[in-house]
Amino acid sequence: MRYRTNRRTGDRISEIGIGSAYLAEAGTDEAVRLLRIAKEGGINYFDLAAGDGKAFPIYGEAFSDIRKDVIYQIHFGADYSKGTYGWSLDPDTVKRSVEKQLSELRTDYIDYGFIHCIDDIADWEKYKKNGIYDQILRLKETGTVRHIGLSSHEPSVINRILDDADVDMVMFSVNPAFDYGLGTYANGSTDERYAVYERCEREGIGISVMKPFFGGKLLDREESPFKRELTEFQCIRYCLDRPGVLTVLPGARNVKEVKILLDYFTQPDEKTDYSVIGSFAPPEAYGKCLYCRHCMPCPQGIDIGLVNKYYDLAKAGDAMAKGHYDKLRKKASDCTRCGKCDSRCPFKVEQSKRMQEIRAYMETV
Ligand code: SF4
Ligand code: SF4
Repeated sequence: MRYRTNRRTGDRISEIGIGSAYLAEAGTDEAVRLLRIAKEGGINYFDLAAGDGKAFPIYGEAFSDIRKDVIYQIHFGADYSKGTYGWSLDPDTVKRSVEKQLSELRTDYIDYGFIHCIDDIADWEKYKKNGIYDQILRLKETGTVRHIGLSSHEPSVINRILDDADVDMVMFSVNPAFDYGLGTYANGSTDERYAVYERCEREGIGISVMKPFFGGKLLDREESPFKRELTEFQCIRYCLDRPGVLTVLPGARNVKEVKILLDYFTQPDEKTDYSVIGSFAPPEAYGKCLYCRHCMPCPQGIDIGLVNKYYDLAKAGDAMAKGHYDKLRKKASDCTRCGKCDSRCPFKVEQSKRMQEIRAYMETV
């Protein structure tokens, strides 16, 4: 397992976590087993926006004895009073739901208390007016909530709430289909979505990824909006390469699916390489570096993906990006314009030209 640190909270978070949309479908015994196998494999981050209320006692059974070793995202607005998931802006319903979840989880604190699933500014206004955000703030004052999170599928709403509230983690729907404007939650333009990634990276706000496989559609040729299937490994790496992302949270229905997720860390580079999406990405995606590293190796030893990432972040105002760039052993100024990367880039980035632009921006005092 590899870990990334949330710069605002100091939490060390596994690059792969578990979402709970399908957990209860496994049945209690299998679900408890899959959670324990996930933990033994190094997974320490769990999202509790469950599809079914039965998930909470399952977590209680799996982890109550090691509660301090796992990190939970708990959602203020997810209602299980009818058994399965519902969404609510009623403050009493939300309060009762969180209290019941804590009791069934056999815990008395919440690692990340989430402003839950707000995709419309009017709902954010109601959320505040109805006192639900205040509930989270009060629980933070007493230490029941350690940190505040926000889940949303809508870039413009994320930006607005980050302006208003002290959020340390954003749960955002990320995958190549949504980034290219395809599918139910493909909200915002590619550029607006990238601006969210870059803002989170700049401000040290972590991103936890929901829907990394688009509910399984991206893994199936027939269902994929690209009409080409990707693998779990390609989707995970795609998400982990986006700025700001700390962890990817696929759902798991059984032990076998968790073992596939854990296999990600032993895959050779070619199994996680997602550059094939360049062959079915829309033309407007061309020319934008995705940091996929498919164009490497560079004869000069330049880490082309990383150089580009720091450049984009620096341009987006990330004060730390220039410092990271300065520490690189090989920089854009080492580029000899040999053009090898240009011919290998599936996204038609003119990298040899871009290296000159990067040198001018990053290496001129
Ligand atoms: S230049 Fe192209 S191949 Fe190279 S990292 Fe960027 S997107 Fe990937
Ligand atoms: S053009 Fe520059 S960055 Fe690209 S492979 Fe050649 S030396 Fe490396």
